[in-house]
Amino acid sequence: MSDKDSEEKHLYKMQKKKAIIDARIAKATEERGVLILMKGNGKGKSSSAFGTMARSLGHGLRAGVVQFSKGWLETGEHLFFKDHPMVDFHVMGHGFTWETQDKTQDIAAAQSAWEVAKAMLSDDRYNILIFDEMSYMFKYGYLDVSPVITALANRPTHQSVIITGRTMHRELGEVADTISKIEDVEHAFRKGVKAQPGIEW
Ligand code: ATP
Ligand code: MG
Repeated sequence: MSDKDSEEKHLYKMQKKKAIIDARIAKATEERGVLILMKGNGKGKSSSAFGTMARSLGHGLRAGVVQFSKGWLETGEHLFFKDHPMVDFHVMGHGFTWETQDKTQDIAAAQSAWEVAKAMLSDDRYNILIFDEMSYMFKYGYLDVSPVITALANRPTHQSVIITGRTMHRELGEVADTISKIEDVEHAFRKGVKAQPGIEW
């Protein structure tokens, strides 16, 4: 086959591909916020969520964060975003006691973090919300999924929400728009590399 033939073939293939993509773009006309789930055992769920938040902030949009996590480490994302004028950042943190296993106190901490999250879901000033590590609250039975599903369904139309966590509640999967599963192919931890600020937290 001559170079000209292969060039023509390439052009034909690209034109066909463009037509398919253009048709898909023309079909996606709905304008609304989305529910994104970031799950799986690989590294990159929370960092993807905060990356998307940074992208939204670049467009001047308002963001809210509730971190349903241990909270004994001061994370880089909290240090970086907490004073941003367009970010409200809540860390469940200190009331939480994975280590002492005080279940009553854990449930109370989870509930009060959920109250903050719920208020954000009914506040149309927020364009994007991150509920980081929320999935564990369902896994450990600290929160019921049904009020969360209801609040998500009733949120302002333009509001997007990103929920992270290794495992996701089935019912959240049923109402999500975008679900990404990060695969654990390899992790430095297994090579004996110590966890480090800026990479791990
Ligand atoms: P990141 O915050 O880096 O995006 P993540 O949100 O996907 O990570 P989590 O399950 O929240 O992952 O775990 C957070 C911490 O655990 C990070 O410090 C991360 O480097 C580490 N981690 C994530 N996946 C693994 C893994 N497969 N093995 C060991 N450590 C991991
Ligand atoms: Mg995480």
